[in-house]
Amino acid sequence: MAAPIRLLTALVPALFATQSIAALFPRSNETTHLAALEACNQLEGLLGSPLVQSSGPSYETAATNAWNLQNSEYQPTCVVFPTTSDHVQVAMKAIYDARSQYAVQAGSHSAMKGWNTVQDGVLIIFSNMRNATYDPVKDSIVLQPGVHWHDAVTALEPFGVAPVGGRVGDVGTGLLLGGGLSWLSPSQGYAADTFKELDVVLVTGELVTATATNEYSDLFRALKGGGNRFGIVTRYELSPVHTGTKDNKTWFGGMMIFNSSAEALLNATARYVREVDDPKAVILVSLINIVVGEDLVPFYLVTPFYNGPSLPDDIFGDFLSIPAVSSTLGPMSYFNVAGTLGLGNDRGYVQHFGASALLGDEDLFLDAFNHWMDFSVAYKDNFNTTTLAFTPVPNSQIQAGRAKGGNIINPPSGGFAAVQIYEQFKAGITDIPQDVQGGIDVLFDQIPPSPGLPLYLNECDSRQKVFESYGDYELLKQIYAKYDPSRFNVEHSQGPVGL
Ligand SMILES: Cc1cc2nc3c(=O)[nH]c(=O)nc-3n(C[C@H](O)[C@H](O)[C@H](O)COP(=O)(O)OP(=O)(O)OC[C@H]3O[C@@H](n4cnc5c(N)ncnc54)[C@H](O)[C@@H]3O)c2cc1C
Repeated sequence: MAAPIRLLTALVPALFATQSIAALFPRSNETTHLAALEACNQLEGLLGSPLVQSSGPSYETAATNAWNLQNSEYQPTCVVFPTTSDHVQVAMKAIYDARSQYAVQAGSHSAMKGWNTVQDGVLIIFSNMRNATYDPVKDSIVLQPGVHWHDAVTALEPFGVAPVGGRVGDVGTGLLLGGGLSWLSPSQGYAADTFKELDVVLVTGELVTATATNEYSDLFRALKGGGNRFGIVTRYELSPVHTGTKDNKTWFGGMMIFNSSAEALLNATARYVREVDDPKAVILVSLINIVVGEDLVPFYLVTPFYNGPSLPDDIFGDFLSIPAVSSTLGPMSYFNVAGTLGLGNDRGYVQHFGASALLGDEDLFLDAFNHWMDFSVAYKDNFNTTTLAFTPVPNSQIQAGRAKGGNIINPPSGGFAAVQIYEQFKAGITDIPQDVQGGIDVLFDQIPPSPGLPLYLNECDSRQKVFESYGDYELLKQIYAKYDPSRFNVEHSQGPVGL
């Protein structure tokens, strides 16, 4: 979704200078502060500079790196820049021993306030662990946690392979821990379903390697949807998809832009979600309002792709029959597909996500749209853009995940749409105003998930009960209790609720 956002933010003038929000962070209690200082002092002794920084240019860059402006205003007590798993072990043990608050940051794209940074605590940032490699003998991709999807896809393309990763280039590997919705998902499952082996630093600092069959197979499963709650992953070994190189134009698709026809697009999307179950087909439908003065300007972006020579009419015909204002449809390599939405690396705005999940039903889709429009109109003065996006999760994706051993999200069989509700706030707004927060809460009540469907962790509001919506919630809780019996993570790190 980021390419349109970058495009859109260019259209929207910066109305306000960013004001200091130091006042938003009153000194947390003294114990927290002292614990963080103790951890940082110990780490400065054990790892030294430049791996540990409490001020200076590297510190400032790291502390202000987050995509969501809210997360770039925190001031961690120190930042750790590991280059090896050992460094992460040392950091985690010091954090654990000192009972310090902490956070982990990979690609920085979490929209949830506080999930990838920390005030009065230790931030572990993976900006110095960014390799993506392919081992043809094992037929494995290995990613270090700091790599961004554009860089991973670019590094691996010459080998004719790609990871099942994000649809926007600047996003990082945190995507994997929330599940991961990819252009390759209909045939491969959630991105996390492609895990082969994970190196994980547990809260105590112990390093374990988890696979589907070893003694850590429960942890392995929990990491396919458990977010940042189950340990710090320092190495991802993934099954590749043999997508070919840039020269292999085996896909067809691109970007279609509409400036009207919302109802026709919603009907086409609902039908697609209900009926299409072809693992070669994938689509993202984003209905966007750009706020220009007093007006909401519709900018509807549809990106259909098919792993074949054309877009089959019985799958995409409804979309193709709606008049578009522009279209880039044509033959593509997977490399082109992965680059369609651009990098999405625009920063400097408060960003807010929320999630729902709907069965493919025209009335449900129209109802969601109408509520979202009412919300967008009511609070438009706050926004650059509002977005209602639908990612179909076809049955083929769910079954592909099960065939690979299953994940902790464990959706019911049958297709549904992951629904993302997203607002980008105007420049100068540094936190979500209370009245808008109230409007968001009402909107969530108005667009509830269809019964039994999981919410998507990577597109949720931090207060939404995502874990509770998982098919394997009870198992998730058991696994958490086993690996973190003192509940250190939930008490010392922001992240999903419900454990
Ligand atoms: C512009 C944009 C486009 C997006 N497109 C997609 C998409 O196509 N498909 C999709 O599925 N999602 C998408 N998302 C959502 C995305 O998956 C989440 O924002 C995801 O959390 C981003 O991961 P990150 O590494 O960039 O972010 P970060 O904020 O660095 O990390 C996200 C979370 O994971 C934790 N974490 C990260 N690395 C580790 C680690 N190694 N060990 C333990 N915890 C860790 C962090 O603490 C944080 O809580 C998009 C988001 C944005 C903003």
